[in-house]
Amino acid sequence: MTETVILFALLCVCMSGCVQCGLCCKKYGMRLEASALDIARWRLDRRDDILAHVGIDFVDGEVSGGRLWVDEAGNRVKQCPFLELRADNKYYCGIHESKPEVCTWHYCEKYF
Ligand code: SF4
Repeated sequence: MTETVILFALLCVCMSGCVQCGLCCKKYGMRLEASALDIARWRLDRRDDILAHVGIDFVDGEVSGGRLWVDEAGNRVKQCPFLELRADNKYYCGIHESKPEVCTWHYCEKYF
């Protein structure tokens, strides 16, 4: 538990220098995986806007996870559809409050 708190604090300190260049999302955003819990959460929250971009995988009839991010045909797209470049020339996550678990682990190599 103590190690988890220290790691989280370290990540907060490191990420405080984020300049929102969008590179981490561009780097990881075309080959991410959703967890089964992410998919259950999006279904519960009726986030069809997110689920429309997830290639849901099944094992023995159960949701095992999902491919992020895909087009209508189920093919991976080159960039996360929720990455937004706004007027201040910074990148934002358009689903920050609901983003997949894996995105909370993006790290910026500039700060390590
Ligand atoms: S969901 Fe948000 S954090 Fe994850 S790749 Fe897309 S824009 Fe980045």
